[in-house]
Amino acid sequence: MIIMKFGGTSLGTAESIQNVFRIVRDRVDQDPVLVVSAHAGVTNSLVEIARTAPGGDADVSEIEDLHHRLLQDLDLPVALLDEQLGEMADLVQGMKLVSEASPRVRDLLLSFGERCSARVVAAYFNQQGLPAQAVDAFEVGLRTDSNFGRARPVADDGRIAKNMSKLEGIPILTGFLGQDADGNITTLGRNGSDFSAALFGNALDAAEIQIWTDVDGVMTADPRLVEGARPIPFMSFGEASELAYYGGKVLHPATILPAIEKSIPVRVLNTHNPDNPGTVILPVYDESSSPVRAVVHKKDIHLITLVSPPMLQQHGFLAKVFRIAEAHEVDVDLVATSEVSITMTADRADHLPAFCEELGELGEVSVEPDHALICVVGQGIAHTHGIAAQVLGTLFEAGVHVRVISQGAIKVNIGLVIQQVDLKKAVTALHSHFF
Ligand code: ADP
Ligand code: ASP
Ligand code: MG
Repeated sequence: MIIMKFGGTSLGTAESIQNVFRIVRDRVDQDPVLVVSAHAGVTNSLVEIARTAPGGDADVSEIEDLHHRLLQDLDLPVALLDEQLGEMADLVQGMKLVSEASPRVRDLLLSFGERCSARVVAAYFNQQGLPAQAVDAFEVGLRTDSNFGRARPVADDGRIAKNMSKLEGIPILTGFLGQDADGNITTLGRNGSDFSAALFGNALDAAEIQIWTDVDGVMTADPRLVEGARPIPFMSFGEASELAYYGGKVLHPATILPAIEKSIPVRVLNTHNPDNPGTVILPVYDESSSPVRAVVHKKDIHLITLVSPPMLQQHGFLAKVFRIAEAHEVDVDLVATSEVSITMTADRADHLPAFCEELGELGEVSVEPDHALICVVGQGIAHTHGIAAQVLGTLFEAGVHVRVISQGAIKVNIGLVIQQVDLKKAVTALHSHFF
């Protein structure tokens, strides 16, 4: 069987959903299992509602209208989602009454996006004569920890395959969602449906995991920032992990891990251009191509520097720093150390004040906002001399000041921190140099 994951951008309008139907119908002999995201824009609206509901302002009518319009445009019963939309409205009412939106309640609210879209897609497939069934991921056993907002899956013991073998028709699974040990609905973090697709691919031993989106595959840079960005035909698992982790929004950073475990190829394809071959992500590395595969970036990065003279010969210092980061759930993306200081980047602005306060017990801390992280990704960097020199030379000529640089011994990437104002200039210069 194959996993076919359709993102929100592939499910935003009736025409897109009709498109998705044709794509799936043409591949029915490959035994597809679908994983779907919420319709485009819905999760963003729900996030906004979760933010405003405790203050009493939130309005669910926009989300209701969007779903009703889609149902009408697809000639489906307008009452199809009454149960889900009703529950959602009640929940928002409750959040207003108690003036609170705990992470647990927020995840429950976000879950309605995917729960609705799976039902819309399944109903449309059935109307078109292709038997299908909407399935909530948490009902078939996608279990996670209780880290609401970015829950991590717990190992599957075979129950997902067992539960799914009982289903009739094409399963249309909700992406993004899981369930903790207490039965609460959890979410896997923004863009988490990609991760769901890979988790289901792993649990069901899929022959391939297909990520259907709105561009012709993974591209050499973010196409919204760099005009000349172009699709990458092949990538290794290692390259795709780095690319996703360091900002390639097209994949959730954890997507590749469940695929790596079982060496399942991941293919990124365009719903609006289904004949395009897209990008294939494979366990092997194609040595014949150029050493650099992509130039990706992450915005709104904080540069944190800790200066601590007594670091000299004080073993366990870095361990202390990372223990504090862990306690505050701050992801450190890039680190540079010297005898007397450590510089690192972090993107969880909401957790930084508390993190930095505790860090202050180890030395003098400074925080600089408005930075960006650029990552030059390519497994070939390890086998080619002088890539770092080219990166720095190119940025020097473009007049971009590099604040931090990092290249590990494995050399799948070169990471750089620059000021955010220089982002477009820097990525464009690097992209034109390497491509
Ligand atoms: P979906 O709804 O299918 O999950 P997303 O919006 O999450 O779609 O991801 C696809 C978008 O990611 C593209 O439209 C593109 O603008 C953006 N993107 C950023 N970096 C890259 C990249 N390196 N390659 C391809 N797309 C990228
Ligand atoms: N709907 C969720 C989001 O917008 C998950 C996803 O689309 O992958 O983040
Ligand atoms: Mg996405």
